[in-house]
Amino acid sequence: MIYLDNAATSYPKPEAVYQAVDHALRHCGANPGRGGHRMALDASRLLLAARETIASFFAIPDASRVVFTSGATEALNLALFGALNSGDRVVTTSMEHNAVLRPLRALQDRGVEVVKVKADQEGFVSPTDLSEACSQPTKMVVMTHCSNVTGTVQAIADIGPWCRQQEILFVVDAAQSAGVLPIDVEAMGIDLLAVPGHKGLMGPTGTGFLYIREGLELSPLIYGGTGSHYSSPLPPEELPERFESGTLNTPGIAGLAAGVEFLHSLGSDAVLKHERELLEQLVAGLKEIPGVRLYGPSDLSCHGGALSLTLDGRDPAEVGFLLDREHDIMVRVGLHCAPDAHRTIGTFPSGTIRISPGFLTIEKDIVALLAGLKKIA
Ligand code: PLP
Repeated sequence: MIYLDNAATSYPKPEAVYQAVDHALRHCGANPGRGGHRMALDASRLLLAARETIASFFAIPDASRVVFTSGATEALNLALFGALNSGDRVVTTSMEHNAVLRPLRALQDRGVEVVKVKADQEGFVSPTDLSEACSQPTKMVVMTHCSNVTGTVQAIADIGPWCRQQEILFVVDAAQSAGVLPIDVEAMGIDLLAVPGHKGLMGPTGTGFLYIREGLELSPLIYGGTGSHYSSPLPPEELPERFESGTLNTPGIAGLAAGVEFLHSLGSDAVLKHERELLEQLVAGLKEIPGVRLYGPSDLSCHGGALSLTLDGRDPAEVGFLLDREHDIMVRVGLHCAPDAHRTIGTFPSGTIRISPGFLTIEKDIVALLAGLKKIA
């Protein structure tokens, strides 16, 4: 079985991740922050250590600004619903995932103005177009760091500091970049960073976080018990409690921290180097297959882990089915929850075949995929 759907969620996980989940469930099984007994304190300590591990990985100055969520979708919902109000104007791009598009669409119904900047054919959003779109008073720019359809890496290190100068909030969807591309929230001027724990960070599904820059006021998305300030009718002002009502996913977060530690132990560019080598091998092989059409950046130094292609005259869904049934290879086909991105690159409505190797993918997997695609073609 060959798994090439790491853009959806990474698989397999490093062994340490499985062990950390198992250990947390067996030995830190109490409710964190909800009691003074030993096991509750152990669970709280586990969460604190996980927050610190994550904060240091992303150059986040204060670990309490890391708010755990169930994934990037919840983190983005918290960022968008928490910061935007009727009358606000927000600028976004044509490369966004539904995790950005749909909250923004719902916010339009509540009086928020949404402006979309169109990317070029390779999926790049021009910083100049973006700044021009902000010529009227704008509260926020929200965009993906790396497209889940074309793998296009956007120039966030240029856009973020410009937004900071203009006093525009800069929100980054790091679903496809966290753990692979370098992210420094301070240097990149990021105010809100939405991160899944289960993709590049190698953690279990159901994990993720939102980084909230110090001094930024957001309304909570979820209201309920926080294990503190019991008699207050509203959630406390302190972070992370303000945004973490309800019992957290302690075993998942333990696994997420183990994933981040695994990445840390590999060194900063090991994953990127490995994934780029596989991508080069993949692109070179695909160019040899008649009828293959590639999408996304031709310059692989601006390419993240997800690669989209179509086979002339073939429905992507059929190709995905054949790869799975006849070649034991798992890829994702269709629109990948990003319909606007397909409108941008001309693959709407049938979508593309998306290949997304991960850190634990090996060269032999790519060879097998190329052979399978060749046969189908
Ligand atoms: N944003 C992008 C670009 C994604 O690719 C994804 C997931 O595929 C998400 C957001 C949503 O992430 P999650 O599944 O962690 O909610």
